Amino acid sequence: MKLLIIEDEIKLGNYLKQGLNEAGFVVDTAADGLDGQHMALTETYDLIILDIMLPYIDGLKLTQTLREENITTPILLLSALNKPQDKVRGLDIGADDYLAKPFDFAELLARVRSLLRRKTKEIKQTLIEIGDLSVDLVKRVVTRGSKKIDLTNKEFLLLEFLLSYKGEVVTRSLIASSVWDINFDSDRNVIDVMVKRLRSKIDSGFNKKLIHTVRGIGYILELR
Ligand code: CA
Repeated sequence: MKLLIIEDEIKLGNYLKQGLNEAGFVVDTAADGLDGQHMALTETYDLIILDIMLPYIDGLKLTQTLREENITTPILLLSALNKPQDKVRGLDIGADDYLAKPFDFAELLARVRSLLRRKTKEIKQTLIEIGDLSVDLVKRVVTRGSKKIDLTNKEFLLLEFLLSYKGEVVTRSLIASSVWDINFDSDRNVIDVMVKRLRSKIDSGFNKKLIHTVRGIGYILELR
């Protein structure tokens, strides 16, 4: 799952990014409303964490703009303003939740998870199945046939990413930037090593393989 944090307090933004990375999310950050708006309009995110008081475009205005542009990504507003009317206004113009600063990281994480659960339920994509592989995106449970497969956080993210492009070829550089936040050219081997590891967990011992190499380009997940 990919999150966008729009927060002008760099220290807080980095702290949130690190915590959410450790919780297994891919995180992009923007430090002002204008950058944030551009990213939210051009990239696809599963959730946006949005500060209200921001340079150039404030969080309330930005929420309104995104909803007008039919971006339905859940928005969690963060604000130092803790007046009920701000909360009401934020929710009225299309935010999904509101957290007053200062907050506990554990509470933020709980709300992020709850919003993602709600979203996944709405699009009825909690469970993805391909052949006898089944992946529960919310509970993070992966099974193949009757075998439960234990994946690390990163392996799970990689599988989730390949599933989102099921039947399409994904390049190594797309995997690198989307799942690892790294520059492919400097970490050329990382992707191959990780795919190899995921593949040994998902495919080895099964007749039908799901993860295939497309020589010179990248990988594809499909039932063959
Ligand atoms: Ca701020």
